[in-house]
Amino acid sequence: MSDHLDFTHETRPVRVVFRPGAATGAVATETARLGLRRLLVVCGARGADTARAVADALGPACAGLHDGALPHVPVEAADRVVAVARAAGADGCVAVGGGSAIGLGKALALRTGLPLIAVPSTYAGSEATAVWGLTENGAKRTGQDAVVQPRAILYDPQLTHSLPVALSVTSGINAIAHAAEALYAPDRSPLIALMAEDGVRAMAGALPEVAADPGSPRARGRALYAAWLCGSCLGATAMGLHHKLCHVLGGGFGLPHAETHTVVLPHVLAHNAPAAPEALAVLARALGTGDAPRALHDLAARLGAPTSLAELGLKESDLTAAAEQVAAQTYPNPREVTVPGVLALLRAAHAGDPPSGS
Ligand code: NAD
Repeated sequence: MSDHLDFTHETRPVRVVFRPGAATGAVATETARLGLRRLLVVCGARGADTARAVADALGPACAGLHDGALPHVPVEAADRVVAVARAAGADGCVAVGGGSAIGLGKALALRTGLPLIAVPSTYAGSEATAVWGLTENGAKRTGQDAVVQPRAILYDPQLTHSLPVALSVTSGINAIAHAAEALYAPDRSPLIALMAEDGVRAMAGALPEVAADPGSPRARGRALYAAWLCGSCLGATAMGLHHKLCHVLGGGFGLPHAETHTVVLPHVLAHNAPAAPEALAVLARALGTGDAPRALHDLAARLGAPTSLAELGLKESDLTAAAEQVAAQTYPNPREVTVPGVLALLRAAHAGDPPSGS
């Protein structure tokens, strides 16, 4: 921690229940606590069985189940969920699933003001933020609004046992990215720094155990705990070059979310390292290494995750356009963002080289 303390920390009123079985065991009491009596349960097609169990656990307080969540929340999906919620007379929403399902719940909250309860089944972290996203005509708009921040989060590690190992690893590294950029965010606080460090430590420790034994309650519990910490960092701070670059690569070039985060993170951290030595030192301590970018690259490789943008389908001829888009935007980053600088790290990430400086 820096000697010179100067920070602002805001705690939002979110109730977090972390317990194996919470998805079905606590949903009725937690929604009743909020005074809600007619809940629309939303999910994606693949998560419908789990969401059905949550809907059943709500009993008469369930106003319906809608499995229309799609990646990046197309505006048409948002229109549909609003119509379904209105027709059902819903007074709240329970979103069950990954960032896509929770994103649909947020779109409903944004349009109608209905309170949202999140039951996450990946490590992406959307449940812990007031950030919404909507995709229209191929372009994703994002914004912040307190109305979309889930009022309660039910973390149930049992829900994540079915998350395939490949997605568990990339989703977990996606979570680490939130903590990593929070460590050099201008609006970080000492509390967020503590959460970030323990989040990275817990996730990096849990992922090899999840990969070795995907049904391990201990490993799944630790990974989801880490996702809570890392998601809280995302919700509390302004993200930098890494998140902006992944947003451009996902939105503009169609690359998959968690996999892109996994490939890009070591390269952005190596790039930012000279301008953020304290953050890199904390990351290195959390990872038990002297070289955090290299350790993250090696962790992904060892667990079979993608390590190059080429294997995710990005064309070499797109690298310059991506670098120009990222350099043209405004966001906080410890090191100045220039086209040649971004292009150099993108070239390494495209080729799957170890992060430079390592
Ligand atoms: P996702 O929600 O699209 O899920 C990925 C895939 O995993 C889907 O096919 C889903 O059906 C499946 N899945 C989810 N949980 C599962 C489980 N337990 N078992 C088996 N399969 C499961 O992806 P994601 O990575 O969770 O979220 C990514 C999306 O969330 C992106 O659109 C991203 O922009 C958004 N996001 C938003 C925020 C925010 O603060 N607004 C934060 C993080 C991510």
